[in-house]
Amino acid sequence: MRTFGGFRSEDRFFYGEIRGDEVHVLKNPFWVDIEPTGEIVRLTSVVVDLPVAPSKLIAVGLNYADHIAEMKRTTLGTPLIWFKSPASLLPHDGTIEIAFPDHQTDFEAELAVVIGKSAKNVLAERALDFVFGYTIGLDISDRDLQKTEKQFGRCKSFDTYTPIGPFVYADVDVSDVSLELRQNGEVRQSTRTSKMIYSIAQIISFASQSLTLLPGDVILTGTAAGVGPIHPGDELEAAIDDWPRLRNSVAIARDRGRTSDGTRPTNIM
Ligand code: MG
Repeated sequence: MRTFGGFRSEDRFFYGEIRGDEVHVLKNPFWVDIEPTGEIVRLTSVVVDLPVAPSKLIAVGLNYADHIAEMKRTTLGTPLIWFKSPASLLPHDGTIEIAFPDHQTDFEAELAVVIGKSAKNVLAERALDFVFGYTIGLDISDRDLQKTEKQFGRCKSFDTYTPIGPFVYADVDVSDVSLELRQNGEVRQSTRTSKMIYSIAQIISFASQSLTLLPGDVILTGTAAGVGPIHPGDELEAAIDDWPRLRNSVAIARDRGRTSDGTRPTNIM
C-alpha cells in the first residue's frame, strides 16, 4: 500500500507521498504523476490538508440493503448517482458547519474512490484499472431539504458537508474491508464494503457510460445502516480497515446569512 496526501506548511500547499514519518514532496498532484521534487519534510511538521481536488464529486445512493431499509426506500435496479459540489470538501480535523441548525443533518460514512485515468464507457471487468486509490469520506446530508426538494444536489453540498481523507491509499484491495463511524466515541455505523449492492467496478462502469471520469475525480460509494443526526460539539471519527481515521468536529455555520465580503444580504429566502 502506498499513501499520498495534500499538505500545508505555512502558506505553501503541496502533494506528497508518505513514507514512514516522512513526506516526499511531489511536483504535481499524485493522480497526474508521481514525480518527487527531491524535497523531504517530516510529517509532524506539516498540516494535513485536502488529499483530493476533483473536477467532479460523484455520490452513489442506496448501495447497502440495510440503509435502503432504514430509509424506507426501494432499489432502482441500477446505481443511483448524483453530484456533490467539490466546494463541500473538508479536510481531516476540519469542522463540519451545520447550515440549518433546525434541520435534521445526518452523517453517512463511505468509501471514496479516486480516479487515476480518464474513463469513458469502460467495462466493469476493466474498471479498476482506472482507479488511482481510495480514501474515507462523509456524505453529510440535510434530510429536511432532501425530503422537500426531492433531489440530492443542494442538501448534500453545503460547504464542509464532504469531509474526506486524511490520505489516499493506492495498491490496496478494498473489496472486503471494514467501514465504521463513531460519534463521540460510540459506534453508529459498522459494515464491510463487500456488502455493497453495486461493486466499485460496476459503479465506475455505470458512471462512465454517461460521463467521462477524469483523473482526480472522486466517487463516494454509498453508506450502510446507522445514519443519524449530528449536533454542535460532536466529534466524528470514520475508519476503513486499519487506515488512519478521518476525524472531524461539528459546529453551527459561522457565516450563516453572510456574503463573502462580510455584509448581510437582504434577499435570503
Ligand atoms: Mg451517501
